[in-house]
Amino acid sequence: MAKPVLIIGAGIAGIQAALDLAELGVDVYLLDKKPSIGGKMAQLDKTFPTLDCASCILTPKMAAILKYKNIRLLMYSEVESVVGEAGDFRVRIRMKPKYVDWDKCTGCGTCIQKCPRKVPDEFNLGLNDRKAIYILFPQAVPRKAVIDAENCLRLNPPPELKERAKGRELCGVCEIVCPTKAIRYDDKPKRIELNVASIIIATGGEVYDPTRIPEYGYGKYMNVYTHLEFERLVSATGPTGGRILRKSDNKEPKKIAWIQCVGSRDRRFNHYCSAFCCMASTKEAILAKEHVKGVDATIFYMDIRSFGKGFNEFVERAKEEFGIRYIRGRVVKIEEESETKNLIVYYEDTFESKLKKDVFDMVVLATAIKPNIPRVIEGLALDEDGFIKLKDPYLDPVSTSIEGIYVIGIAASAKDIPDSVSEASAAAIRACQLAKGKELEVLADGGELDG
Ligand SMILES: Cc1cc2nc3c(=O)[nH]c(=O)nc-3n(C[C@H](O)[C@H](O)[C@H](O)COP(=O)(O)OP(=O)(O)OC[C@H]3O[C@@H](n4cnc5c(N)ncnc54)[C@H](O)[C@@H]3O)c2cc1C
Ligand code: SF4
Ligand code: SF4
Repeated sequence: MAKPVLIIGAGIAGIQAALDLAELGVDVYLLDKKPSIGGKMAQLDKTFPTLDCASCILTPKMAAILKYKNIRLLMYSEVESVVGEAGDFRVRIRMKPKYVDWDKCTGCGTCIQKCPRKVPDEFNLGLNDRKAIYILFPQAVPRKAVIDAENCLRLNPPPELKERAKGRELCGVCEIVCPTKAIRYDDKPKRIELNVASIIIATGGEVYDPTRIPEYGYGKYMNVYTHLEFERLVSATGPTGGRILRKSDNKEPKKIAWIQCVGSRDRRFNHYCSAFCCMASTKEAILAKEHVKGVDATIFYMDIRSFGKGFNEFVERAKEEFGIRYIRGRVVKIEEESETKNLIVYYEDTFESKLKKDVFDMVVLATAIKPNIPRVIEGLALDEDGFIKLKDPYLDPVSTSIEGIYVIGIAASAKDIPDSVSEASAAAIRACQLAKGKELEVLADGGELDG
């Protein structure tokens, strides 16, 4: 009997590996710390270089996960420990309380409409609010609600309200309105243990915190955004319904700058290249042109890394068809005009060897990507940049320092969606060999050929 495979992280890489393994007849546990699968790709508006809608590509794959009987989702869960060896790992998992019985929840959203408690929406990077009971995003899979206990008036009432309530339970609105009686305020964390043949790590990455780079004013100046925030701004399901509006005055910007390599290729922060940002900014500048009539879009870059298939043509199209300006120059600092909240960008134009400045009404920082590493696997080697170290980057690029544990997507190195998906399929084959207990073999040796 084939043993199952555990995939940690259900972004596009984890989803692809799960689908491939399921198709090969292997049982899969697909685990994510969030209440929905999808990862970063679910936050993107369109993808380079084709400008296809990201969710139109991702949503059918997410839906397919639910169709396979041999994929079991472990959502809102984290790995606590891993012991054992290739072919026989024992994994302890902590499942966080959801306070909603998912067998009963239909995802109708009634509770969300009525919940009185608003908190910043992490899926939209805090650009708008969600409720204390919420579904991660509209196309979530599974489409089920969870209660954020920390912010729920019933589960964690603020001290002043608790005192006034004099021992009475607070709120409880979601329980009253839920038509299927799915709310469980007494839910507790659960612990399960799995025995799996192999593990695929697909925990992706997070955008580098640009407040660590004070010269760009992120967090201080209202109209400086990260590129992931911009993806949400431009998305029809985002906080502004797809309208690009400045935080300071809710108006459309007329002039936007993108700054490349923010926290990447900079020895003060991360010396590696984040690989997808040159193309992501090109895509976002095109989207800005499509969303805001007559907007001026400028990209400040060190060099444009457009190495993939169709990438160089995409950049050429951005320049020629959309009129996007590319300025080769490192931005030294940004200052804010106190009245207009516009941004003065100081930069060195390296073609003209001159220090210059220009004023923009929005700035987007192409921030570096940092890997998410599950710190619970003893002996898992990391490289000097904090990504999971590959056993052999040339001939075995999905194996880690531990036999039977594989790594795919951004957890291994900064990369785009096509590369993440290719690695996922490669790791699925490796994991399948272990799960089924078979090595690839030559079925017949035909002997030497003449001539
Ligand atoms: C602003 C921006 C724009 C981009 N635009 C494009 C584009 O147009 N085209 C393109 O090809 N690429 C683009 N990319 C890159 C693309 O997003 C990534 O290549 C892709 O998302 C990588 O997928 P992944 O599955 O490795 O990681 P992720 O998408 O990050 O998924 C990782 C998953 O693991 C989960 N997880 C993390 N840690 C744990 C843990 N400890 N335990 C359990 N679960 C965990 C997370 O919740 C998440 O669901 C862009 C990236 C950014 C930031
Ligand atoms: S009202 Fe009940 S069934 Fe509807 S989304 Fe909320 S918890 Fe689920
Ligand atoms: S108990 Fe009240 S605050 Fe808590 S999730 Fe339900 S409706 Fe929201």
